[in-house]
Amino acid sequence: MLNTTKGKRIYLSTPHMSGKEMKYIQDAFDSNWIAPLGFNVDEFEKGIANYIGAKGAVAVSSGTAAIHLALSLLDVNRGDTVFCSTLTFVASANPILYQGAEPVFIDSEPNSWNMCPNALKRAFEDAAMNGKLPKAVIIVNLYGQSAKMDELLSICKAYQVPIIEDAAESLGTIYRGKFSGTFGDYGIFSFNGNKIITTSGGGMLVSDNAEVIDKARFLATQARDPAIYYLHSRLGYNYRLSNVLAGIGRGQLEVLDERIKVKREIFETYKRELEGYSCLSFMKELENSFSNRWLTVLTIDDKKAGITVGEIVDAFAENDIEARPVWKPLHTQPLFKNSKYYPHNNEKSISEKLFLTGICLPSGTNMTKEEQIKVINCLKNLLIHSK
Ligand SMILES: *Cc1c(COP(=O)(O)O)cnc(C)c1O
Repeated sequence: MLNTTKGKRIYLSTPHMSGKEMKYIQDAFDSNWIAPLGFNVDEFEKGIANYIGAKGAVAVSSGTAAIHLALSLLDVNRGDTVFCSTLTFVASANPILYQGAEPVFIDSEPNSWNMCPNALKRAFEDAAMNGKLPKAVIIVNLYGQSAKMDELLSICKAYQVPIIEDAAESLGTIYRGKFSGTFGDYGIFSFNGNKIITTSGGGMLVSDNAEVIDKARFLATQARDPAIYYLHSRLGYNYRLSNVLAGIGRGQLEVLDERIKVKREIFETYKRELEGYSCLSFMKELENSFSNRWLTVLTIDDKKAGITVGEIVDAFAENDIEARPVWKPLHTQPLFKNSKYYPHNNEKSISEKLFLTGICLPSGTNMTKEEQIKVINCLKNLLIHSK
């Protein structure tokens, strides 16, 4: 994903600085705290924890690193299995492989597009029958939409298996009065350049358990035991976030509410302007939830539309507009060709259908009204023969 606002190309989601970042970066320079620790890191951690209502947070170098730390803290190792949403970015599952463990992929359900409780239940029943429960379940909240946490949580609780909530795309999303990322034993966020707020690259691990937060901080700084020399008794990582980048994060966090407001307005504008097309269905907002609408996503019935998602993406590209199909399900990726998969039911694989019919439209908060109108008109022109 390219991260530039230069030129006239319209991108999916670009970094959007608030102007408040430079002050914090300057503070880091003035005090010479150019290190993977310091006051910006501390304040950014506190800021995120306060915002979502988590007890603790550890700032790290990426969302992927945060997932890896969570798996390491849960003692996931070679021979273990981990259940994971299939409709997601590869970063949700790569850390399972880092630990030498095996992913088992779980399909989506049609309302939220996120993990299907019935498929999860079947996966657990099989695992229990085989006498080998997963060490963890990674639940992803896609494009700002919360998964059906009530149902998923109660299944995992029944089997006493911990949850890692991949909230990389859902910072600020609320489900039944609680913030996304606070439902599992661990929550993870990403501040990659395309996310709703960014530190150019970065992530956060959050938890209500102060003990594991301390342990995460320890593992993320090479697992240095207390001693005047360098003493190590277990494997660690170099995963801490730079104090300079955390300064960007502090400036970004101040405008998170404003960014969510604009993301939701972008979604509403697309929906309103394209209302008349029966071939289009916008991603619904799950009941009792509030989505940050990170990206506007919809499905296209190609028979009614007379054009496929692939053809639309290509036609957009010719008009300097970046659009993308939704994530290719991980169980269909060559990397995971030997992994087990639990579809929605025997007849239907929802994630595969969403991949074939789903499209993400440009949703950058710094996109102008004119640019959004250009995208809308371009799509209308492509749907000229639609029924
Ligand atoms: C972006 C993203 C990640 C990974 O975050 P990085 O900071 O890029 O490592 C993980 N999961 C999902 C669903 C994402 O969209």
